[in-house]
Amino acid sequence: MPFDHLIHQALLLTMEPRSRPLAHGFVAIQGTEIVAVGQAEDRENLPPARQYWDMNGDLVMPGLINNHCHAAMTLFRGLADDLPLDEWLQQHIFPAEARWVDYEFVYTGTLLAAAELIRGGVTAVADAYFWETAARQAFAESGLRGVAAQGVIDFPAPGVPNPTDNIRVAQEFIDSGSASSPPLITSTLFCHSPYTCSAPTLKQAKDLTRQRGLSFFIHLAETRWEEAQIRRQTGLSPVAYLDSLGILDEMTVAAHAVWVDPADQEILARRGVKICHCPECNLKLASGVAPIPDLLARGLVIGLGTDGAASNNNLNIFGEMNLAAKLHKAIRLDPTVMSAREVVELATSKGAQVLDLGEITGTLTPGKCADLIVVNLHQPHLTPLYDPYSHLVYAAAASDVQHVMVHGRWLMLDRRLLTLDWPTIKRKALALAERINSTAARFPA
Ligand SMILES: [Zn+2]
Repeated sequence: MPFDHLIHQALLLTMEPRSRPLAHGFVAIQGTEIVAVGQAEDRENLPPARQYWDMNGDLVMPGLINNHCHAAMTLFRGLADDLPLDEWLQQHIFPAEARWVDYEFVYTGTLLAAAELIRGGVTAVADAYFWETAARQAFAESGLRGVAAQGVIDFPAPGVPNPTDNIRVAQEFIDSGSASSPPLITSTLFCHSPYTCSAPTLKQAKDLTRQRGLSFFIHLAETRWEEAQIRRQTGLSPVAYLDSLGILDEMTVAAHAVWVDPADQEILARRGVKICHCPECNLKLASGVAPIPDLLARGLVIGLGTDGAASNNNLNIFGEMNLAAKLHKAIRLDPTVMSAREVVELATSKGAQVLDLGEITGTLTPGKCADLIVVNLHQPHLTPLYDPYSHLVYAAAASDVQHVMVHGRWLMLDRRLLTLDWPTIKRKALALAERINSTAARFPA
């Protein structure tokens, strides 16, 4: 039986623990699955392949994983910047969401996000927003792997005007997913935060995900304001408060974790909570810097996320890797923390574990799904190459990603999107942006 694809003559990073870069490496793929990985000399006993892909020394590695995103917010990119968080949210983002976010908005915005994600080498994404049925549909059409999480908040929200319906809507979203969803997308829910969801809402939401064996997503300890607010209301830190409600376990994914003191870190480690580090968003909104080296030292599993494009302002995991590596060095005055290899692990193998996809993706391993990217090394800014991890973190750009495969299917070849109709997405996105731009809310008198 011939293989479907043999990707060869690659500089291969499998991202398996303690693995070394493999020169003249190959990946053999049958259907959706990786069936063999190795170097040129290991190829002798392999059967032939239907299609050969000579990478001419380019880098082949697992696809990048974006652990925290609000994809449809691409349509709010650059709408309001350089504002205090409260003003940004209350006067710009929340009013714009109330006015504009509907099924069509989320569908188009998510397709736009998917195009950007694929072109930036992302193969799996955790998304959280409202009208998440639309996001799930868009991701399914894109061919990306991911987790789609319906937003839960105790305020009127797009598609959920009465907040007492929020858990029911999330449950219907989850149930419709398990009934009809494409196999690459897991459907779950996302509680906005400890300060926008009541204790009963948080507990009901966690119970629901626990019953279904699903990951539970939440923004946690993002800002100093949140920390002070929750302490005022409960006498506890946001982390201790969620722990007192029984929310924290190894299926909880906490985005941000900026304001976590050693006692909070100990709770997060004891409960096995997964963390998503969003350095660029935390800097842009002046939220602070998460103590990632401390959390890693405690053994927590951590991935990288961009958050929404309104607070970043892109969905570029290369940018997050670059920042994650440099930021903690500067804060600690220690250039040895957050090595390039460690940061690439956060963006690949660890990111997959955060999403409970560690058995499926995140490394190039026989038996896992064929989710991989090819990075074009034949460029001035990547020449010469001594250490591929160094180049990925300190020198490469999202635009260096040449080809992208998810589940054994090419989503991009030679930077051409194969599953998405970019001219149509662009036309629809610009039409929506024109309406948003014309509103009084955009340009207050
Ligand atoms: Zn977020």
